[in-house]
Amino acid sequence: MKVLILGAGYGGLTVAHRLKEYLGEDIEITVVSKSRSIYENTIFPAILTNDVKVEDTVFDGLEVMRRKGNLFVEAEVKDVNLQSKEVKTSKGTFDYDYLVLALGGGYEENFNKISGHEHAFMHHPLSDFLKIKEKLASMDEINAVIGNYTGSPIEGPSYQLALIVRNEINRRGIKGKVTLVTQSPNGVFGMLPVKEISERANRLFEENGIELVKGDSIVEVRKDKVVTRNGKEIGSNFVSILPKLSVPSLLRETSIVNERGYVEVEFPSFRTKRFHDVFAIGDLAEGMIPARTARGAMIAGENVSSTLAKEIKGVEKPLYKQGIICMFHGGEVAGMLRFDVKDKPHVSLLVNPVFSKLKIMYSRMLVATGFNVPYHAAPFF
Ligand SMILES: Cc1cc2nc3c(=O)[nH]c(=O)nc-3n(C[C@H](O)[C@H](O)[C@H](O)COP(=O)(O)OP(=O)(O)OC[C@H]3O[C@@H](n4cnc5c(N)ncnc54)[C@H](O)[C@@H]3O)c2cc1C
Repeated sequence: MKVLILGAGYGGLTVAHRLKEYLGEDIEITVVSKSRSIYENTIFPAILTNDVKVEDTVFDGLEVMRRKGNLFVEAEVKDVNLQSKEVKTSKGTFDYDYLVLALGGGYEENFNKISGHEHAFMHHPLSDFLKIKEKLASMDEINAVIGNYTGSPIEGPSYQLALIVRNEINRRGIKGKVTLVTQSPNGVFGMLPVKEISERANRLFEENGIELVKGDSIVEVRKDKVVTRNGKEIGSNFVSILPKLSVPSLLRETSIVNERGYVEVEFPSFRTKRFHDVFAIGDLAEGMIPARTARGAMIAGENVSSTLAKEIKGVEKPLYKQGIICMFHGGEVAGMLRFDVKDKPHVSLLVNPVFSKLKIMYSRMLVATGFNVPYHAAPFF
């Protein structure tokens, strides 16, 4: 039985690890990904504060898969034909019995569509974090506007960057201002169904000197200002944006993508609705909740593995619900937001500098195991 996994991120590697553990020699697993160097991107904000070095964020995917007994092909996926069950890559064509789409989201493509994006950073890839670090260090006065484009499914990185830039201004005693644009009218973490949490989070950010623009998003960048969806113009000499998300363009023309731009799947299996032998997980797929996170991608990967273990060998393994754990590291300020739905929604927000250390420890574990994390603190489905 051949399982082909496209993408060696949090989701793809979770499937590769778990499925091998569940099915051993009964299965041939091949992972195809652009580069054997895999980055643990959730910790990138800590590079800005010198709490983490770049080399601590990366591992060798090929080596990790070789040790596991799986194949890793360092190649670019060029075309996916779900009808003929063929995947064309820069290193040849692959067929499969089961296919797992785990290529992440088209962040860069969507960022490049934002009017005036050349005047802004995108706090997503390592390359931009390194440029942000250099830029901030060179500025004597920082007038920062940070936020998301309309419909962007994850705001945690924006919150962290806002806190870090504010911290940088205070630490260096330079002039500056930080404006954080949040999509929800309730403000920080405002998309969650408990208003008391966002009220507390808003207070935390405001007490730390961050100005909040609520219920809005950044839609255009000019040389010295940003323009928001509500028509507000905010002066700036530093802008960073997370764009909206959708499947990477190579999958856009397939029949499995819905009108929101994500692959349509069934829950809890993450099997695509149109193709029984195709699964889709992580940033490119619909989720049980709107937020697209690494934890969400790994939980989806667990569910795919459990579904296939049952289908191929009759082995019963657990299925989980997706939620959010956002450990945020903002320089001097850190905390953890948790949202999970069991019988009813549970939300908590803890603020304590210890979460910076815990976030770094968790990141080290992700890197050391090659994204093989057995426990996601997620409720059973
Ligand atoms: C700064 C930052 C902080 C974050 N913080 C958190 C956090 O605290 N907690 C959390 O849960 N989430 C966080 N996230 C979100 C999280 O990183 C993403 O949701 C996660 O990366 C999605 O995982 P994935 O497996 O879907 O895709 P990815 O991790 O993006 O992996 C996709 C893989 O596919 C490969 N690939 C893509 N296209 C091709 C192609 N054509 N051919 C071959 N290979 C290809 C890529 O190289 C990559 O290896 C953060 C994100 C950022 C940017």
